[in-house]
Amino acid sequence: MTQTTSPRTSNDAISATPEIGKAELRAALDEVMLDSLRPVTAVLMALLCILIYGYARQPRALAVPTALMAALALAAVFVCSLLLYHRKIPARYANPLGALLAALMLIQRLVYLALLRAPEPTANIILIFVGTGFLILSTPWLVATLGSALVVWLAIALRSPDPSAWSHNGFLLLSATALAFIIHLTRLNSLRRQEVLRVQNELRNRELEQRAVALETFYQTERSRRLLTETLYEVSRALSQTLNLEEVLGLILENLARLVAFDRGSVMLRQDNELLIVAARGFPAESNPLQIRVPIKENDVFQQICQSRAPLIIPEVSGRLDWQQVEHLPPARAWAGVPLIDAQNEVIGMLSLTRETPQPYTGDETGLVLTFAGQAAIALQNARLYSALGEAYAQLERLDQTKSDFITVAAHELRTPLTLIRGYSQMLLKDPEIGKDTERLEMMRGIVDGAIRLNDIINSMVDIAKIDTRTLQLYFLPVTLENLLRSLLNSFREASQERHLTLRMNIEESLPVIEADADALKKVFYHLVVNAIKYTPDGGTITITGSALKPGAYGWPAGGVEIVIRDTGIGIDPRYHNLIFTKFYQTGEVALHSSGTTKFKGGGPGLGLAIVKGIVEAHGGKVWVESTGYDEATCPGSSFHVVLPLTQPEEPA
Ligand code: ADP
Repeated sequence: MTQTTSPRTSNDAISATPEIGKAELRAALDEVMLDSLRPVTAVLMALLCILIYGYARQPRALAVPTALMAALALAAVFVCSLLLYHRKIPARYANPLGALLAALMLIQRLVYLALLRAPEPTANIILIFVGTGFLILSTPWLVATLGSALVVWLAIALRSPDPSAWSHNGFLLLSATALAFIIHLTRLNSLRRQEVLRVQNELRNRELEQRAVALETFYQTERSRRLLTETLYEVSRALSQTLNLEEVLGLILENLARLVAFDRGSVMLRQDNELLIVAARGFPAESNPLQIRVPIKENDVFQQICQSRAPLIIPEVSGRLDWQQVEHLPPARAWAGVPLIDAQNEVIGMLSLTRETPQPYTGDETGLVLTFAGQAAIALQNARLYSALGEAYAQLERLDQTKSDFITVAAHELRTPLTLIRGYSQMLLKDPEIGKDTERLEMMRGIVDGAIRLNDIINSMVDIAKIDTRTLQLYFLPVTLENLLRSLLNSFREASQERHLTLRMNIEESLPVIEADADALKKVFYHLVVNAIKYTPDGGTITITGSALKPGAYGWPAGGVEIVIRDTGIGIDPRYHNLIFTKFYQTGEVALHSSGTTKFKGGGPGLGLAIVKGIVEAHGGKVWVESTGYDEATCPGSSFHVVLPLTQPEEPA
């Protein structure tokens, strides 16, 4: 049959009666017995002295043997007391010794009884019986002592001239024997119980002590855990809040010091064949720790850490050949080094902790250091990424600057020859000679159209260059948007008829006059309408709506206006909603561009929306697009929203 043991609860464990073994109990009783023997020998010696005195006063024939015997007994008891006093007698001999002492007394009185041949001294024997019953804690020894004394007493009584005179004393002696046994058994029982209780108590106390220790350990662990969580939280927060490497590493060492004791701690980074300290704590100020360079040598502690990729603990540094003591620093005794491993799994350095006392680092402490080393590696990684990002960003800025410079130069350089091409080609177009030849006339028209288109592109390049260099000049005057938009739409009538597009205007009557640069806004809506025409298939509709915005909208005290250019075109994938406003960004295939301004998917240089955004933002407004997605089959359409403030601040941004 298999027995299952259920886990004990803490209460069970406390209340359960601990078992006490027989041998254990015997040993405890022997100890009690041994303890009581010392005063007993003293009392016996006193009694024996009195007896010797009493015997000596007897007639000579009686006095000599009895006194001699009592003296011998006294000597024996004295030796016993000495041995007991010096604790020379093991506890297991306590009962035989007790029996011996009782026997010495009994022999006294029995010899005296035999010599006296009268029953009177039996009274003494009775008292010795009772005393022995009280003293001896071993039933066999008691039986042996009292039994032999009884036998001897009986022999003496039977050999006396008048045995019947002894019967009364005999009865008394038997009663004393019974009493001795009762006392003995009662005492034995109570001592046993007392001993069981004592042992139980001791066991419980021990158990309670263990529990207290366990509880203390638990609280200690809990405290350490909380401290660890707190410190790690603080470090993680610093990691996510600051990119200042020195600050973060300093904080890591500071928090580590709250958990692991060290005299000097440093974060060391490998640079070629050296280790340089990037953060330090506990170093003497004059040692200038951040200037310390430790050369990496064959099989030194750092090389060992690199190879094992695990912490290295050196309980005693002195005398180690792989240890390099940095000059002007107090000598290290105990040391722990933990590798710093980056995201590419490479050892980039180590976290080094030194104690100037020979107090080795424990496994638990090293575990904590490992956690902080992980944080330090993240901080270093972040710093590297940040500096790489900074470099990339600077490079991008340089590239962007080059691009802007190129646009400015190209626009400027192209403008002059283009003016000539435009002027002369228009003159040639009006030449009657060319007008006669339809083929040449067509070619001339192509040149003029191309020059106009090129002029538009160069204008856009100039605009974007101005926006980039923040040199766009705006002249804010009252502008009636309805008129501006209506005249703009009229300029597209021809193109829209060609492409069978419907152009609609839906402007609120109460649309207020706004403070703006009319020419700049014309460009904004020109690019938006051109795009709407370009990306809407033939037969589609383009609607311009205009509404007033209440005061307070977008944080504008006087309110503003919202113009929406909505088309039924191919739509724009939401992934590109922000990107299309950056210069040169086009969602379609660049190679597929056709050069027509209003042709379906005619394409362009990718500057239109960047100009729109630049001008709108220079007005303090916002522009964004809404479209469910790009689909040439279903044409979900796009809506470009432009919001502009009613008034401009005194000092334009
Ligand atoms: P582009 O000169 O290419 O028209 P823009 O800056 O004006 O440059 O537009 C950038 C890109 O945004 C376009 O290439 C086009 O893919 C997309 N786009 C702009 N307007 C619309 C529109 N109304 N419908 C669909 N796509 C548009």
